[in-house]
Amino acid sequence: MLKRVVVVTGIPGTGKTTVCNVAVKLAEQTGKKINVVNYGSIMVEISQKRDKSLHRDALRKSGLAFQRNLQARAARIISKKAVAVNGDLIVDTHMSIKTASGYWAGLPFHVLQLLNPDMFVLVEAEPHEILSRRHKDKSRKRDKVLEDEIMEEILFSRLMAAACAVLTGASIKMVDNPTGKQAEAAREVLKLLV
Ligand code: AMP
Ligand code: MG
Repeated sequence: MLKRVVVVTGIPGTGKTTVCNVAVKLAEQTGKKINVVNYGSIMVEISQKRDKSLHRDALRKSGLAFQRNLQARAARIISKKAVAVNGDLIVDTHMSIKTASGYWAGLPFHVLQLLNPDMFVLVEAEPHEILSRRHKDKSRKRDKVLEDEIMEEILFSRLMAAACAVLTGASIKMVDNPTGKQAEAAREVLKLLV
């Protein structure tokens, strides 16, 4: 059985988690099992075990040394998962994280070496749609930013993706996720896994 690792990324509010979940359901309908792991959730779980339980949106605001430690530990857990699961693994994560110290790579070289991804997916949406999704999602503590800042976040994600592609030899697939079109976006992701 093929066991590929597809890293699905997108700035907060692009709907990458929704796209991943829809992809799993659509794959199930065709009898295919796809596994998804959410990098941020693994980091939150590790932080809970260390008595410093943080909300997922508080992670990026904590000290960089702390985040680095969680990031490295999560990478080890996810790489073991990639070996253990049957079939392909989608890793729901970020190319770039906006921290108090500036943009920080979600997939630095040591993480890439552990995950050994075959493909990267950049889920994108129009900046005004991302802004309105961030405002509507009351379950999350999204930063209030302007459209220009959203464009900068998208740019940084693309720059980081290019660097990751050079380091790994993996391809980058851009997937648009306009409002209401998550099934189409999920199908684009599934096309990578035929
Ligand atoms: P999410 O639910 O995908 O928005 O992820 C929640 C949080 O987890 C992000 O805002 C980051 O703080 C953290 N996170 C997710 N993936 C990574 C990663 N690869 N490296 C570092 N932090 C990450
Ligand atoms: Mg998410």
